[in-house]
Amino acid sequence: MIRFGPAGNSDSFYEEGHKTTLDVPRWLHERDLNAYEYQCTRGVRITPAFANALKVQAERFQIALSIHAPYYINLASPDPVIMESSKKHIVKSLQAAQWMGADRVVIHPGSVSKMQRSEAMKNALIRLEKIVNEIDPELLNECCLCPETMGKANNLGTLPEILELCKIHPRIVPTVDFGHIHALEGGSLKGEAQFLRIIEKIDKALGSDAAKNLHVHFSPVEFTAGGEKKHWNLKDKEYGPEFFPFAKIIWQNGLSPRVICESAGCQVEDAAVFKSTYLSLKNSSPFHPTVV
Ligand SMILES: [Zn+2]
Repeated sequence: MIRFGPAGNSDSFYEEGHKTTLDVPRWLHERDLNAYEYQCTRGVRITPAFANALKVQAERFQIALSIHAPYYINLASPDPVIMESSKKHIVKSLQAAQWMGADRVVIHPGSVSKMQRSEAMKNALIRLEKIVNEIDPELLNECCLCPETMGKANNLGTLPEILELCKIHPRIVPTVDFGHIHALEGGSLKGEAQFLRIIEKIDKALGSDAAKNLHVHFSPVEFTAGGEKKHWNLKDKEYGPEFFPFAKIIWQNGLSPRVICESAGCQVEDAAVFKSTYLSLKNSSPFHPTVV
């Protein structure tokens, strides 16, 4: 099932007078959206009671939940203190996901910093494998860890790096942030071919299930030579990537991504635009499957 929804709460949610995230599932349902990424980016502070209440609402309104883990995770760092705190952030995020019934936890892999890129990557591979081997296996029963493709050159998280991290364990699957890839590669996502190339790489590395059921972040991103500068929204016409070519690839290949919109302030409105773009394409063009 294809799903669309926002990362966190858009400005309009608060402007309409809502004060608690427990109102979100109903509010999204009323807008024909069916996914929500709960933001723990500044730390996991949610209580079991609140998470459970959110779970009840999400089940009632059939909203699939994911969690964005804290930004502080850095799997590449050789510093034992950072290693340990990264593990704690991951465990706490997975624990919150279990309370909430969220089936995906998105993580940023870490920073290259002053290391060689290959050294940072080696650290991250060793560290992530150690973490998944050490944690309570139950935490990964119903939930996947989803390392995200990153937009800045100094971060770990090119698509090949993310795919390597995903090979560690079957419950590690990619988050493909197309805005980040576009920004990192200097505006590379210009048409269907570029989106298809990414899907093909995931299929080749991790298999067709991973390519088909992808966790996706999508929003217009401004970039400089160093990659991502700022997330914008669809009202800011000059920033890409465009959703339409990706919608075509979704439709032509029978993909079922969960598309989380991270547009600044307008993530609900833009998620709805993505959904209608996909639906109008689906309703107007015959199904021509291409081989992924
Ligand atoms: Zn992220």
